[in-house]
Amino acid sequence: MARARSVEGASSPAPLPQDALPVRVLRRRGDVVGVRVRRSVDRAHRSRGGPTPRHRRPGVTRELSCEICVIGSGAGGSAAAATLAAAGSDVVLLEAGPHHVPSTFDQREATMMPRLFADAGLAATRDQSIPVMSGRGLGGSTVHNTGLAVPAPRAVLENWAARGGLPVSVDAFEAAQEEVLRRLGARVVDNDEINANNQVLAAGAKDRGLDFVVARHNRDRCSGCGYCMIGCAYNKKRNALFAWLEGGVTDGLRIVVDAPVDRIIDRADGAIVRGRDLEVRAKEVVVAASALRTPVLLRRSGFRSRAIGGNLRLHPFAPVAALFDHRIAAWRGVPQSVLVTGGARFLQGGRGGWILMAGAAGPAATAAFVPGHGRDVAGLMARYGHLAFAGVLLHDEGHGSVRARKDGRPEIRSWPRGDDRVGLVEGIRALAELYFAAGAREVFLPFTRRPRVGSASELDGLERLPFRPYDVTLSSVHPQASVPMGAGRDAAVRPDGRLRGARRVRVADGSLFPGSVGVPPQVAIMTYGMLVGQVMAAEPSR
Ligand SMILES: Cc1cc2nc3c(=O)[nH]c(=O)nc-3n(C[C@H](O)[C@H](O)[C@H](O)COP(=O)(O)OP(=O)(O)OC[C@H]3O[C@@H](n4cnc5c(N)ncnc54)[C@H](O)[C@@H]3O)c2cc1C
Repeated sequence: MARARSVEGASSPAPLPQDALPVRVLRRRGDVVGVRVRRSVDRAHRSRGGPTPRHRRPGVTRELSCEICVIGSGAGGSAAAATLAAAGSDVVLLEAGPHHVPSTFDQREATMMPRLFADAGLAATRDQSIPVMSGRGLGGSTVHNTGLAVPAPRAVLENWAARGGLPVSVDAFEAAQEEVLRRLGARVVDNDEINANNQVLAAGAKDRGLDFVVARHNRDRCSGCGYCMIGCAYNKKRNALFAWLEGGVTDGLRIVVDAPVDRIIDRADGAIVRGRDLEVRAKEVVVAASALRTPVLLRRSGFRSRAIGGNLRLHPFAPVAALFDHRIAAWRGVPQSVLVTGGARFLQGGRGGWILMAGAAGPAATAAFVPGHGRDVAGLMARYGHLAFAGVLLHDEGHGSVRARKDGRPEIRSWPRGDDRVGLVEGIRALAELYFAAGAREVFLPFTRRPRVGSASELDGLERLPFRPYDVTLSSVHPQASVPMGAGRDAAVRPDGRLRGARRVRVADGSLFPGSVGVPPQVAIMTYGMLVGQVMAAEPSR
């Protein structure tokens, strides 16, 4: 709180630190065309005998060869690539998007959303009922995520292990998660960093007898500006660039940005990776293009297993806002520090359940959610500083699917049904009751048929409200489990990360989860990436 206030009132911004990576961005007429590894790193790499890609020249097909080609530089891909490079492998990492330079982040939703997010942040399920957001650029979604660093719960890991869905034992996976948390510099958010938006969550949870925790985050000397979800202009997030890529480049990892891959040709003697103006020949390929795009790339490359794309979980998030008499300024400070776990049955090995946590409280996101049109919205936004904003994160049991559209984009189908629907309504009610217990004057619900309530008694009958697409506002920022790992033939990937039915292709991103993890997923995804890298590095053929 104290920090957030001092930043809000500051007359001039703090000086921006140096950008993170030991690489220089190459531009042509303003467009990023590649990165040049700084000379010291370049020399180290060349002394090991490998060529260094200087840049990708549009219109000219550049050919590279390497031992392992990793596709996608997000949480999973960066961990896999850096682990393999550290073990001495010759690795090329291809990233579809650019290298985003933090000092150019302008803290405006209108400009940063199209820059940092895939499809300009407008991707959604096929019927447009659930926006599904993920990142595009070096570091993937870790560049604009909120920095919650939460390991996968043991009960979930035990469930996955029983299905052969872990590359190692549960104990070894937990130890690996600790290593990831250490690399991320994760630490519990200090009391004076808990902003008013999260304080009302904690106060209401106490009153309602719901358990809550203050979470760990991977942010370092955070200024509390609150713009994490549109990129940290102060470069204080210890994202994949800090945790993995910086060390990876020192170990000889070659990175090519603006290099979207179209197709993988999987042959007995090696793989060919084809992208725009680029062809990479590798002994093996690791696909880490995210839970939305890995299944699309695999299908476009001719892999036909029904398990590819058929097990998608969206971790749907149902937003709830509340109007308080006192000032909240929900957009300031660490956005998500308090997690209300009182309804998270999956933590004890049960089915389903939910976590209540603060949501993105930028002006555009808030205005899009509050009910009504025109003057109604303007009236509520005039009280923006008094609005608290949170939501229900569901541990979803039912699954959707992701397939390749003709234009190469993912076609996502998903809508919560059965127990998932029951769980969401239960969580929405619990959050509304929590807000009233914390002193809210009015609560805004995600139901089109009951958008605002003035007291807890008006929550009666929520279960009977229509729950079809568009009846309820939902969003997703954690797509996962679309190419699941498991011992059975119904799983797309074997426990060593190999894609079933492929010779030279492995997977190492959020697609691998056998089911929904229930908590923010970046730590578990990095752990899968690191472990797939370690399994590969330990194979006798290498
Ligand atoms: C707004 C937001 C907030 C979040 N907050 C948190 C949080 O606080 N804590 C948490 O744990 N998680 C959070 N997450 C989720 C977390 O960041 C992601 O789940 C995680 O980064 C996914 O890792 P990934 O490796 O599967 O994919 P990504 O990190 O999305 O990386 C995939 C990369 O692959 C690239 N790519 C895609 N297709 C191709 C192709 N054909 N060729 C080459 N490259 C390609 C993409 O450009 C992208 O860079 C958040 C997500 C969002 C959107």
